This record gives sequence, structure tokens and C-alpha cells, in this order.
Amino acid sequence: MSYTIRAQQAVLPGHEAPVPATIVVKAGKIASVVEGEASGDAAGEVVDIGAGRVLVPGLIDSHVHLNQPGRTAWEGFATGTAAALAGGVTTLIDMPLNSIPPTTTVANLGEKRQAATATGVRCDVGFWGGIIPGNAGDLKPLLAAGAKGFKCFLIESGVDEFPCVGEADLIAACDALQGTNALVMFHAELERVPGSHSHAQPEAYATFLASRPPQLELDALSLILSLARRYPSLRFHIVHLSAADALAPIRAARAGTDGGAPVANLTVETCFHYLTLAAEGVPDNATSYKCCPPIRPEANRQLLREAVIDGTIDYVVSDHSPCTPELKKGDFMSAWGGVSGLGFGLPLLWTEFGREVPLPRVVGWLSAAQAAQVGLAGTKGEIRPGADADFAVFDPDASVEVTQADLLFRNKQSAYIGKTLRGRVDRTYLRGEAVWDADDAAGSLAAETRGQLL
Ligand SMILES: [Zn+2]
Repeated sequence: MSYTIRAQQAVLPGHEAPVPATIVVKAGKIASVVEGEASGDAAGEVVDIGAGRVLVPGLIDSHVHLNQPGRTAWEGFATGTAAALAGGVTTLIDMPLNSIPPTTTVANLGEKRQAATATGVRCDVGFWGGIIPGNAGDLKPLLAAGAKGFKCFLIESGVDEFPCVGEADLIAACDALQGTNALVMFHAELERVPGSHSHAQPEAYATFLASRPPQLELDALSLILSLARRYPSLRFHIVHLSAADALAPIRAARAGTDGGAPVANLTVETCFHYLTLAAEGVPDNATSYKCCPPIRPEANRQLLREAVIDGTIDYVVSDHSPCTPELKKGDFMSAWGGVSGLGFGLPLLWTEFGREVPLPRVVGWLSAAQAAQVGLAGTKGEIRPGADADFAVFDPDASVEVTQADLLFRNKQSAYIGKTLRGRVDRTYLRGEAVWDADDAAGSLAAETRGQLL
């Protein structure tokens, strides 16, 4: 089946601003892209995106915890992928922990895939593997079985079945992966002197913030940089960077001005919440803001913003990591950590950056940069011939207040409830099929699941 999309504004590769374009979709792929006002080569039905709307590539979120099987009460394939589509996210990559079993062996990856297939997924889903003590021998087989790379923790993860690793475990893992160009990702907090912080006034955000100081991220960074230099045939990645103090050493390592060789194999992500929320605005006991590393003060947020704009930080993810309401109850020191934000990336970042950064750059942080990271460049994340026909239709001028009723997550909690955001995803297309219409949420959710496992 073929049809044609006409857009007065489309985000295309190589353009600093949206441009008019005519796109022919054939059998779920982009067959052609012609720039300029209404060109002659329409095929089949013509879908007009409409005035004031921008056609953007389907977004990618490479840091999502879906937790199924095992902790499906926290989040699952059905609800998580619905929330993704509602935000224009057509591809997500699932983290290896919080599900039981965790994705640390080929058999466990098989259980994940089986659960996803049985439940059905609304968007495309790929899987990260995990590095835990003793599983170095499982890593190459996991890579061969389709894992997109490997995540590990340098500090306790919060769940018993995904223990953190030390330097010896990492050397064993990197030795096992030598020569594969695999991506090794770090929860980059390292506590050299565990448990030395105060628990007094656990209702105050400042108490929690003081328990996870930037030094933890700096100590983790120095270990990661030593591994990056020791294993140039592997790629290393810092997930959810929060401490702006780490930016100068990252820049120096890349430039080779820190006394070592220039580091070319390190990438860095940060999250929507570190760029749009600040410690000063967190009320007492507002545990929906609790995550690790923590949301830090406003001055830190400003430095992270600059680092995204100047490219020190490569891209931005949700780190959507929900749990049950029971586990979010209580104070900052006892509640489960994790911010729910899957699908809110484009309006959040457009609200935050739209006055100084053109839309194609913001979209790039949420699409092409992540496609390249997970080996999907050319297939996902850009509107170009040969790629999957994944799109979102974005209204950049809409003003929308986030309400609890809008949340499609399994658990309707989020630090973003009550915030007014600029921009709305009106529709989402997956492999050429319309799979989400914001004005017909019930109808969209009733439709069959069309996502695939990547
Ligand atoms: Zn995470």
C-alpha cells in the first residue's frame, strides 16, 4: 500500500529549520522525500499534515524501565508502549533491570521477548542487556541474541537480582567483549565511603540531595574514563548524568587535556527531569521527584542545559522508572526512586529550549542521536528514503496542562502533573500506520498492537 504525506513543515536531515516536503510511504517504509511545496509525484491517497503542524521523525527513548515480567505492577509492555506512542515515541529500548528475571542471560532475554510478544507492544521495543558480577561469559551470547548493549551499576541498584559491579567485574566484562564495539553503560554513582550521610528530616528534599552529592558522579567518572582508555575497541556511556561538576572533566578527557589520551569512545545522556526541574522547587515529601542521581539545584540545571546545547551531552532520555503507589509513599529516604516521564520529552524540551534552539535540533536529541547509539541509524530516527515510515505530527504552538488523566502509564504518578507545556503530539505513525490520535485516545488504544521487537 502506498500513500503520500504533504507537510508544510517537516524536520528533515541536514536542515536547521523545518521545510516543506512531500513524502511517499510504501509498504511501511519511506519510499521518497521531495523537498519544496507540493511536488507532482504523489502516490495513492494524500494525507495533508495541516497548517501549523510539523512532521517529525518517530522519536526514540533509549532509557525506559518496563519491568515486565516480574514487576508488571510497576509498568508493563501494554501501558508503557501506549504512553510512548501518545508522545510520538515509536521506538524504545528497555533497561535490563527491575524485571524478574533481569536481562543478564540469553535465556532471560528470551523470557522478556516472550512476555512482550504475549502482551503485545504498541511501539517497537529493543532490549539492553545487563552486566552483573559473574556474567561476563553471558555478554557475547547476549549481543549475538540481539541485546543493544549493556548497563551496569557502580552503586547498589535497589533490586537484589541486579547487584552492582566493581572494577574487577568490569575488567572481566570488557575482556569478554573485546573487539565487539559493544556499548557499556554505567549508572555512574560510586560511593567510596558508603552510608556516611544523615537521615534526619527525611521529609525534606535537601536531606536526600545531601545523601547523593556530585562527588559520587565524579568518582564514577574517573573509573569510567580509565576503562574507556584501556578498551578503545568498546564504547562507553554514562546514563542520566545529573552533576554538572562532571562536565569539565568529560570535556577535558575528550580533548585529551587531562593528562591522558583523547577519549573518543565516551557518550553521555541526561534526562528530561534534570533539564526541566530543580531542587528548589521540590516540595516536602514530593517523592514523585525522587530519582538517583538526584535532581540538583537550579544553577546545576543551567549548566546541564548549556552542555546539551553545546553537545557535551549527546542526547536526552526519559529514564521512565515507575513503581507502585505503595512504594512511592513515605518520605524521600524510604520511597522508591524513579521519575515517570515516558512520552513527555518533546513538549518538555520544546518548552525548555524552544526559544533559543530550532526544533530540528531538539528533535535530533530525541531521535537521530539515539538511533545511531543503538545501531538503528538509517532505519529509525530520521525522515529519509529507506527508513521505517515512523512519524509524529507535532503542534509546536499548543499549550497543554499535564493532568493525571492524560497519563497512560500503569501508575498515574508524575512530577510533571500540573505543569503547562508548549507543544503537543497530535498523531503518531508506526511503519506507515496511524497508531495514535490525541483527539481519539480511546479509539487509538482499542486498535491492535503493531509494534515489533527489535
Ligand atoms: Zn534507569
